Amino acid sequence: MNCRSCGFPIMKFFSLGQMPLVNSFLTKEQIPSEAKFDLSVGFCPQCCLVQLMETVPPEKLFRDYIYFSSTSKLFLEHCRSLADELAARFKLNPDSLVVEIASNDGAQLQAFKDLGIKILGIDPAANIAQVANAKGIPTLPEFFNLALAQKLQTEGTQADLIFGANVLAHVPSIVDFAKGVKTILKPGGTAVFEFPYLKGLLEKKFDTIYHEHVFYYSLIALRNLWHSVGLEVYDVEQTPMQGGSLEIFIAHPGAFAISDNVKILINQEVQAGFDKITTYQKMSDEIQNLKNELMALLAKLKSEGRTIAAYSAPAKGNVLLNYFGINQNYLDFIVDKAEAKQGLYTPGTHLLVYPLNKIYETKPDYLLVLCWNIADEIINMPELAEYKKHGGKFIIPVPEVKIFNE
Ligand SMILES: [Zn+2]
Repeated sequence: MNCRSCGFPIMKFFSLGQMPLVNSFLTKEQIPSEAKFDLSVGFCPQCCLVQLMETVPPEKLFRDYIYFSSTSKLFLEHCRSLADELAARFKLNPDSLVVEIASNDGAQLQAFKDLGIKILGIDPAANIAQVANAKGIPTLPEFFNLALAQKLQTEGTQADLIFGANVLAHVPSIVDFAKGVKTILKPGGTAVFEFPYLKGLLEKKFDTIYHEHVFYYSLIALRNLWHSVGLEVYDVEQTPMQGGSLEIFIAHPGAFAISDNVKILINQEVQAGFDKITTYQKMSDEIQNLKNELMALLAKLKSEGRTIAAYSAPAKGNVLLNYFGINQNYLDFIVDKAEAKQGLYTPGTHLLVYPLNKIYETKPDYLLVLCWNIADEIINMPELAEYKKHGGKFIIPVPEVKIFNE
């Protein structure tokens, strides 16, 4: 396998084995025909890009996506403040155009539209693009790539701001994508991308590894990538999104001065060994230790006759369950707040998803918190106050195995 950014042969350092598509919940009838795909990660010794060894065709992953972003109030507030911040920083006005790549149902673009700025969304999930268009957010139901960018350029589309959250890690043909960005970016424009930061992986937050995420970016690798298509990363910020994300600012060379943030973070990455395969091999060993520790705990609790339920079934939770081999032998049941998942079976492990009230009815001894990144929020949820009062305990599996309320 060759690097998707620079073409150099990549070195495998971690394998999660055969993994189902962790966002694809199943009906009982779909279980026998469930597909699994290899999930292993490699490192490019030439440009330092961490990436999957094999990918699933994007058509299988994104054409019929069930996630609608506007459902969360917190997310809408985030969209508004981000639009305000970017509009002020780049002095956007009614003549400016914001293009969002992977714009989903248009929540972020709506916030720009409310500021009187011109907008265009691009999202390959046809069902979601349709929802956006119906709401007055012009959205092309396409994958963003160089061919589409050239078509847009021919039609006179040039962006003052290109924005993309959680897309840069998802696109296998990343060089073609980057060339597309260059094609529609105005000479003085900026492209802003937000994505999970590689640092999390090295802190044992391995459950962000799944088929949708082809890349696990360091700033070192990103700088190399954008430089190769003739663009420049001129600023970077770390954000708390998704348990640790990066926001990068890209422009045509010389359009903006390179911020000290870029230099500082690259130095930190070199210090931490992000440019060395041995760092990643060590990470792989640490995750194996984490697995052994959690499995020993669950086995001990089961042998003592304790009941254990899993709290919520996010994509990352399904990665953990499948890779660790946590199935019906360990878990009595699983619950999730999202109605869209209730009554369906979890990918790979085939646990029926129940609503939260199953916890109040059956009072399991332990809740395995799979959305560990918001563990505090879960433990302090008013809905779980009763459970806690009666001695219900919480197991946090990542990045360290911890038990609360013991
Ligand atoms: Zn490379």
